[in-house]
Amino acid sequence: MSDRFEFSVSATDGRARSGTIRTPRGDIRTPAFMPVGTAATVKAMLPESVRATGADILLGNTYHLMLRPGAERVARLGGLHRFMNWDRPILTDSGGFQVMSLSSLRKLTEEGVTFASHIDGSKHFLSPETSMEIQRQLGSDIVMAFDECPALPASEAEVAASMRMSMRWAQRSRDAFGDRPGHALFGIMQGGVTRELREESAEALRAIGFDGYAIGGLAVGEGQEAMFGVLDYAPGFLPEDKPRYLMGVGKPDDIVGAVLRGVDMMDCVLPSRSGRTGQAWTRRGQLNIKNARHADDPRPLDEACTCPACTGYSRAYLHHVFRAGEMISGMLLTWHNLHYFQELMQGMRDAIAAGRFQDFVAEFEAQRAGGDIAPL
Ligand SMILES: [Zn+2]
Repeated sequence: MSDRFEFSVSATDGRARSGTIRTPRGDIRTPAFMPVGTAATVKAMLPESVRATGADILLGNTYHLMLRPGAERVARLGGLHRFMNWDRPILTDSGGFQVMSLSSLRKLTEEGVTFASHIDGSKHFLSPETSMEIQRQLGSDIVMAFDECPALPASEAEVAASMRMSMRWAQRSRDAFGDRPGHALFGIMQGGVTRELREESAEALRAIGFDGYAIGGLAVGEGQEAMFGVLDYAPGFLPEDKPRYLMGVGKPDDIVGAVLRGVDMMDCVLPSRSGRTGQAWTRRGQLNIKNARHADDPRPLDEACTCPACTGYSRAYLHHVFRAGEMISGMLLTWHNLHYFQELMQGMRDAIAAGRFQDFVAEFEAQRAGGDIAPL
């Protein structure tokens, strides 16, 4: 533990790196995967169960929490950590992305964005200043600068104008955040898939100075090839000695590809969301538990997995409870998926530290290429 926010890289292998973010609420081992606790819960999981999967940090959504139950209420109740019974680090997003994707009647100006809640239509305003205040009320350990991510498709001129406004908002976020020892503020690089814009954005953020740097505006439908194309150069525009966070990623092969290109942190709803729709992720790829082939299969999802779903239950049982609409279905599959994602991160951290990350990636790809175990 540390009374400050600090990051150190302990090993590199090619562009991949492993290290530790130290915070007053505990260490975050990197590369790190952050499960998403949208509405102050990782759906279908107790916080201690999330921790048991190996998560060091959770993500909370400013947009959802400001609308319900409200950031002031969370503050009165002792902050988000106490409210949701998670005493380790929490990163909150700025709200900007979900205003764009979820709310209606948006009005965007240089000052900020006015929008109508997707829950009850009530009017709200978010700006760099209000986002910093809301994230402070929530008690977030890692605060994200308020930015705008243009809806795709967008022209290069639109992406450039949006990125430059986000950089002005980054300065306002920095000014409004102030000096808060033990808490970190991350800037967010924008610029779409244009190298020159990414470089300009990175230079603007470095001039302001942040505790960490996110790569925003990816994983928004551009496809893996275009995303990896940006990741081939974008992390290199950011400071070596600060964490690099790729927002909203992703599938296991996206995650491995991002780490290979120098990313330290990621978040995604995928393991929890797909757990509730009957999708399981294993080292052999993705499987759908509702498929009839599992109905009589006494074997676990993955015989090598040590999670409760795999040590205690058969594919046949998981198939049955999914088909019957039982709650334990989402609980077990979410647990397994989060366990698998965290095991993947641990495997990468160990491989980077041992200087054998290329071998790890080759093995990861070979196992997936083989596909799921054959039906009985
Ligand atoms: Zn498992």
